[in-house]
Amino acid sequence: KFASTGNETCFHDRHINPQIYADLNGSNWSIKDYEARGGYQALRKLLGKDGGEGLTQDQVIATLKESGLRGRGGAGFPTGLKWSFMPRQFPGQKHLVCNSDEGEPGTCKDRDILMFNPHIVIEGMIIAAFAMGISIGYNYIHGEIFEVYERFEAALEEARAAGYLGDNILGSSFSFQLHAHHGFGAYICGEETALLESLEGKKGQPRFKPPFPASFGLYGKPTTINNTETFAAVPWIIRNGGQAYLECGKPNNGGTKIFSVSGDVNLPGNYEVPMGTPFSKLLELAGGVRTGRKLKAVIPGGSSSPVLPADIIMDCTMDYDSISKAGSMLGSGAVIVMDDSRDMVECLLRLSYFYSHESCGQCTPCREGTGWLWRVVNRIQHGEGRPEDIELLDSVSVNIMGRTICALGDAAAMPVRAMIKHFRHEFEAKIQSASKQAA
Ligand code: SF4
Repeated sequence: KFASTGNETCFHDRHINPQIYADLNGSNWSIKDYEARGGYQALRKLLGKDGGEGLTQDQVIATLKESGLRGRGGAGFPTGLKWSFMPRQFPGQKHLVCNSDEGEPGTCKDRDILMFNPHIVIEGMIIAAFAMGISIGYNYIHGEIFEVYERFEAALEEARAAGYLGDNILGSSFSFQLHAHHGFGAYICGEETALLESLEGKKGQPRFKPPFPASFGLYGKPTTINNTETFAAVPWIIRNGGQAYLECGKPNNGGTKIFSVSGDVNLPGNYEVPMGTPFSKLLELAGGVRTGRKLKAVIPGGSSSPVLPADIIMDCTMDYDSISKAGSMLGSGAVIVMDDSRDMVECLLRLSYFYSHESCGQCTPCREGTGWLWRVVNRIQHGEGRPEDIELLDSVSVNIMGRTICALGDAAAMPVRAMIKHFRHEFEAKIQSASKQAA
């Protein structure tokens, strides 16, 4: 369910983007409801259909830069800067792609945006296409949520019928065709170049970079890829201005962010709060730690981000800079809460299995290393750990990091190193217990 995001009691004066999270009850996703909430007004403003002069491509990109919006898929790259990389005078076809292949364990925000407010993503993509002079776009939707794909297709039909998509949008000279495409559930297809390969009909495996998609993307043509939540933020920014969006968050971390809070909390769900919100406030919105338990640790940005013990995360604010300073990453905003009943070796075992299973197998350090990590953690968990195993885990992790084609290798190694750093005693206790039993 889409939990009561942007709690009015706490954040009434900063409840800035009701289009994303207002009152989502499953019936108000259609175009007439979206328009009633102010939907497609940003597009009308852009094209000068509201009596104004309209905006130029440079003005749109400058507004995005001013807003401080950073990519919500995990990397946190400044959106306006990314859009400025698109060679606008390129003579051939250029592409726009929305990455809705949300597969990071703990993350469940994009599917809710697409299910309950698909037009906000469509409008954001139309504005992006206008700013970069792109005429064709695709939304690549995770394969295991087919009902979301069908909802998005229905929304596309509505937008086409209303003249917001297709040739000569709202009577202007701007044309943009947008299509939905569903994957088949491979985690690696959320990596942008693997997504492009998959979209081209090939096996979804990451490409070597450079060249980057901005110059060699879909079908070898310049391509800009953004996350679903990133596009969803764009209409509000165009309507209200970049500065207004920036001020909703904090410097270098503009606007709001949807956090998927899961694990040992009383009210798991999606919560949209201003960037820079204290972690303690987010935890409070999610109903606090499971009744009768204490906070032990939190994975703050999806399973790839290093775990942080309770005393560190409680001092953090939820933004890229604060979480990074604490030694982790904000990532996609999947906040996995663990209480004091959790066995950290068991938690790591589940994560290690996931990455071993999802490795595409293209490069040796990832293909072999993720399997090693899983097998070593597995034997520690099952009472067969050896005294040298902790150093072995660290060594395998170090030898994966920075030696692979894509970030999955690092994503598999970082949680291992963080678990050992903060909860080494739990690994040692299991190994010592195994040694005693063997003796
Ligand atoms: Fe594939 Fe892993 Fe290499 Fe990425 S790091 S390309 S997932 S083998």
